[in-house]
Amino acid sequence: MRIRSMKRPERVAVIGVGILGSCVGWNLARHGVEVVFIDEGQPGEGVTNWSFSWVNASNKTVRRSYFDLNVAGMAAYRELADVIGPDLWWHPGGHLRWADEPAAEAKLLETAELLAGWDYRVEVRTGAEVRHLEPALAVPDEVPVAFYPDEAWVQGRHVVGRLVDLAVAAGAERRFGTAVRGIGTRSDGAVRTVVLSDGSQLEVDAIVNAAGPNASHVAGLVARQLPMRWEPGAVTRVECAQVPVHHPMHAPHIEIRPDGDTSMVLHSREIDALIDTGKDSAELGRLLHEVAQQVVPELGNARITRTRVSNRPIPADGFPSVGAVPSVPGYYEAVTHSGITLGPVIGRLLAAEILSGKRDEMLADFRPERFLT
Ligand SMILES: Cc1cc2nc3c(=O)[nH]c(=O)nc-3n(C[C@H](O)[C@H](O)[C@H](O)COP(=O)(O)OP(=O)(O)OC[C@H]3O[C@@H](n4cnc5c(N)ncnc54)[C@H](O)[C@@H]3O)c2cc1C
Repeated sequence: MRIRSMKRPERVAVIGVGILGSCVGWNLARHGVEVVFIDEGQPGEGVTNWSFSWVNASNKTVRRSYFDLNVAGMAAYRELADVIGPDLWWHPGGHLRWADEPAAEAKLLETAELLAGWDYRVEVRTGAEVRHLEPALAVPDEVPVAFYPDEAWVQGRHVVGRLVDLAVAAGAERRFGTAVRGIGTRSDGAVRTVVLSDGSQLEVDAIVNAAGPNASHVAGLVARQLPMRWEPGAVTRVECAQVPVHHPMHAPHIEIRPDGDTSMVLHSREIDALIDTGKDSAELGRLLHEVAQQVVPELGNARITRTRVSNRPIPADGFPSVGAVPSVPGYYEAVTHSGITLGPVIGRLLAAEILSGKRDEMLADFRPERFLT
């Protein structure tokens, strides 16, 4: 379906340069659009750098169209690694998940069966088998472990930097360390200018709101309401001589993944639940480190380098908000949780929509209009 007769934009401002903004901007720049990347901080230093960064669809069974979009996200990463090179950012090789109590174990096996029925690759192994893969794990011999071989993790900050560099080589402009404070529109409501906190003003044909947790504020600059959730998460990085495990994993009560050769990332939904009880980030980091040692005892020798609490960029109904907002010609949204998994596919689909005016069926359930009052 074609949504409007607006001509192909020549100059597009991408507001926010995390995984979403960099993926949309790179796709536009390589198709000849003049892209201006704007970020109030530095590219990739937002939630994208403080994410568990697990590329998956096994955790997305809540709605079939959402699962399909995430499967497309996984495929888009493999294509991206082929096109731009895997460099330091792409880490395929699978993901492990197990539980320590009967109800959670039954749920894990039920999900594995459902996913196998949807042609999603999963192998159920035992703890003893998994220790051949990961000898440092304290996992009981007989416990069933779901292994998802096509899942991966990415180093978000590195892939963002690479995409921005490639876009700049194709002519994109960088405006970092300056925030978008205002968006000017024409008499017909179409986007015309972007006003920055350094006092400058840019003439543009279109903008992409990829401001992550701040997307609701940026939407407000064109008088649009984008309701979003408050759902913060705490991530800790620990430094060790050599990483003791090599796969991302959901162990009981803790998620663990490598983050390079000497750094690990720790996260736990159970510890996220303590954020609003007033615990500070240092305390949350200590708790994460403590729980992680029950699964990987060697992490006792690791040192916490930093813990950060970030809000997840989740539209109110839990699903992505991606595409044009017809009431504001030239305004597009790219706002989503699971943005690490979805960045490359959303980047490709949204850039195609901006260039052609055509909506892709894959985004039908995730259009921004559903939030119009
Ligand atoms: C604890 C936690 C764990 C997660 N785990 C996973 C996971 O395992 N897998 C997964 O797929 N997803 C995961 N996510 C979600 C994922 O990290 C996010 O969906 C994704 O990183 C969002 O990227 P983004 O580009 O939208 O936002 P960001 O990376 O935050 O980028 C937005 C950018 O916008 C800039 N900005 C904001 N306002 C303005 C303004 N007014 N002017 C200019 N710039 C502005 C910011 O400086 C920032 O750089 C997790 C999130 C959290 C918090």
